[in-house]
Amino acid sequence: MSDNDGKKTLGLRGGPRSGQVKQSFSHGRTKSVVVETKRKRVVVPKPSGKGAGGGGNPHLGDPSKRPAGISDAEMERRLRALQAAKANEAEEAARREKEEREREVERQRRREEAEAKEREQREIEEAARRKAEEEEKARVEAEEAKKRAAEERKSAPKKAAAADPAQPVPAQDAPARPGSAPRKGGDRPGNNRDDDRGGRNNRGGGKGDRRSGKLTVNQALTGGEGGRQRSLASMKRKQERMRQKAMGGAESREKVVRDVQVPETIVVQELANRMAERVADVVKALMKMGMMVTQNQSIDADTAELIIEEFGHKIVRVSDADVEDVIDTVDDKEEDLQPRPPVITIMGHVDHGKTSLLDAIRNAKVVAGEAGGITQHIGAYQVTTDSGTTLSFLDTPGHAAFTSMRARGAQVTDIVVLVVAADDAVMPQTIEAIAHAKAAGVPMIVAINKCDKPAADPMKVRTDLLQHEVIVEQMSGDVQDVEVSAHTGQGLDELLEAIALQSEILELKANPTRAASGAVIEAQLDVGRGPVATVLVQNGTLKQGDIFVVGEQWGKVRALVNDKGERVKEAGPSVPVEVLGLNGTPEAGDVLNVVDTEAQAREIAEYREQAAKDKRAAAGAATTLDQLLAKAKADENVSELPILVKADVQGSAEAIVQAMEKIGNDEVRVRVLHAGVGAITETDVGLAEASGSPVIGFNVRANASARNAANQKGVEIRYYSVIYDLVDDVKAAASGLLSAEIRENFIGYSEIKEVFKVSGVGKVAGCLVTEGVARRSAGVRLLRDNVVIHEGTLKTLKRFKDEVAEVQSGQECGMAFENYDDIRPGDVIEIFEREEIERKLD
Ligand code: GDP
Repeated sequence: MSDNDGKKTLGLRGGPRSGQVKQSFSHGRTKSVVVETKRKRVVVPKPSGKGAGGGGNPHLGDPSKRPAGISDAEMERRLRALQAAKANEAEEAARREKEEREREVERQRRREEAEAKEREQREIEEAARRKAEEEEKARVEAEEAKKRAAEERKSAPKKAAAADPAQPVPAQDAPARPGSAPRKGGDRPGNNRDDDRGGRNNRGGGKGDRRSGKLTVNQALTGGEGGRQRSLASMKRKQERMRQKAMGGAESREKVVRDVQVPETIVVQELANRMAERVADVVKALMKMGMMVTQNQSIDADTAELIIEEFGHKIVRVSDADVEDVIDTVDDKEEDLQPRPPVITIMGHVDHGKTSLLDAIRNAKVVAGEAGGITQHIGAYQVTTDSGTTLSFLDTPGHAAFTSMRARGAQVTDIVVLVVAADDAVMPQTIEAIAHAKAAGVPMIVAINKCDKPAADPMKVRTDLLQHEVIVEQMSGDVQDVEVSAHTGQGLDELLEAIALQSEILELKANPTRAASGAVIEAQLDVGRGPVATVLVQNGTLKQGDIFVVGEQWGKVRALVNDKGERVKEAGPSVPVEVLGLNGTPEAGDVLNVVDTEAQAREIAEYREQAAKDKRAAAGAATTLDQLLAKAKADENVSELPILVKADVQGSAEAIVQAMEKIGNDEVRVRVLHAGVGAITETDVGLAEASGSPVIGFNVRANASARNAANQKGVEIRYYSVIYDLVDDVKAAASGLLSAEIRENFIGYSEIKEVFKVSGVGKVAGCLVTEGVARRSAGVRLLRDNVVIHEGTLKTLKRFKDEVAEVQSGQECGMAFENYDDIRPGDVIEIFEREEIERKLD
């Protein structure tokens, strides 16, 4: 009102009323301000929103900063509003905080609830299990009781029976009853752990309290004890025990004797499945029998039988081989049989002219006789004699082909032609060939070859053969003999006629109308044509389009090519043909059978493949430790020469492997790491490098990358086209592995006459050389009463005062042993030398 007052104020007209107001701001700050109120209300533009919002804008209350035209009353009103707003705000914050707290409490409560519920659920499950178990126990007990009652108290059977249902009740209810405070038990463990487990496990939250009335295991288990809580781990252990017990109980209860079907081999897991036993138990049982196998390994049917018996089941042996039943094995009727050409194999000692003879026969009969005359090497060919008989020759000469075929059960040869060179007579392989032919029960015809040679002495051959119980006709026996020359062609026709005659005697027959069966003579993977097999049809007729299975392969005849390189539509008995249309390369000696459908062919092939695999696996698994040890021991002293063989055809590869396996003795042997058909590849070189072996190419070459790799890695590649050269070379190499023989030569004896002690030298023997010489460098043995008491070397050999190299018999000398002093007069010194002798494999 006064001017004084006005000093402090803006001194508005109308005399404003002034006063003090205490302003309070957020964060507890306060400020006293002077306010003036005007009586007159003036309209002023409203200050900006933030002023009205308050929130600690101090210039509002400051009259100096007050916008012009705001009266005191207005100001006061605003301040009140401001304060009210502040109070409201604080209130609101407090409320929110409270709500938040409540919500948190609620969340916590829910979490606890969920957790408790989950635990409770687990406990209920356990209780159920326990209950089932108790029921079972009770049932068994009841049954026993029943039996007892029936046996013991026949007079009162009813009573015993009546006890029956009553008995299990307490047993099963007892643990379930103490549910007088159902929730409590469930909650308690939960509460105990709320603090540390709070955040998780609230997934059961939505279920509410539905289960609250249920029994908990805690109650069931702890029952009256009340006190200590079980730990979670202990609960788990208990559960596990119960489950096992329950399973064990179930097993003994439901033990069913099963008929377990077992093929020749079975995987352990599958065996367990078929017995409905646990794999672990089966493996354990096998271990008890000393067989360390895993569940994925195969065991043979005999082992499986023992296991099956042990588990109390019954074995039913089945043969998957049933799939092979579709192969037609019905015997031919007599009236269906027709004569067939004989199949001839030429055997004999190396260089006696087998190949030359085969070529001579072929050239004489095929090249000259056929138009075009292109001969093709397919492993066999047919010729027709002048008398019109057809003969089938296998043109893989040698014993390997014959024996490997026979080993596979494919006896294809009807007649053996034994070639003996007239200038060489009977040799080791001649004798071997005789043995093979006799063992196979195949008749022989002797071809005395090289009769063109001046040195030829056919009679010597005949007499030689007598020693091996081959009595030729000229020696009044029944084995035909023909003098031939592969070079001049002399006697070839006679030989063929002799074969024809022999085959007539044999009365060889086959049924050309049935489904074909035959033997693989050679097989190879042809770059252009895929897998190709030369098959000698043995029975029936093989036709284009036929579906067949051959060994572990199958196929559909896409084309048939005969020995003249011509395409043919079919091949009858004893006819060799190349078969195209295989899905894989079979092996020489595999048997081919025509079947009705592709599915059958595939099934049989797959079965055979699997059977072969299983057999190998089972054989591997059955190896006992003893066997392994024995093998390791045997191997210790044997040096091995590893080689890797690649050949042009399967037949050659097999022949080489067999020849290689024969090389060696107890100390050295050749190990064929791999023998395959086709060019030498980088993979072969890699394998060879890894095992430090050379690569042998028989009529095949290394491809460029293999050659490079071999150069880089220092792998030796050797090419051969004659097996015998290969054999000789490998023998020489293997001989190199033979440790040289050490031979001892006694070179002298001396007798100790006196023993002296020489300072600095030790004991010196004064000797007389009684025999031979004493040599300084030689080995010496000290003999006392003819017993060797020391073996070593000489330190000195002295004649008088001089060190000498040698002392002759009859002379005296001084001798001292290296590192040995116990010498006495009368001892004898034996002087010997060792000689190393190189040995050769024969
Ligand atoms: P294989 O090892 O038994 O197959 O014998 P070969 O057919 O390779 O022949 C070995 C050697 O004997 C070759 O040098 C042939 O030329 C030779 N030879 C084979 N048959 C005769 C023959 O009838 N007369 C003569 N003089 N040499 C022959």
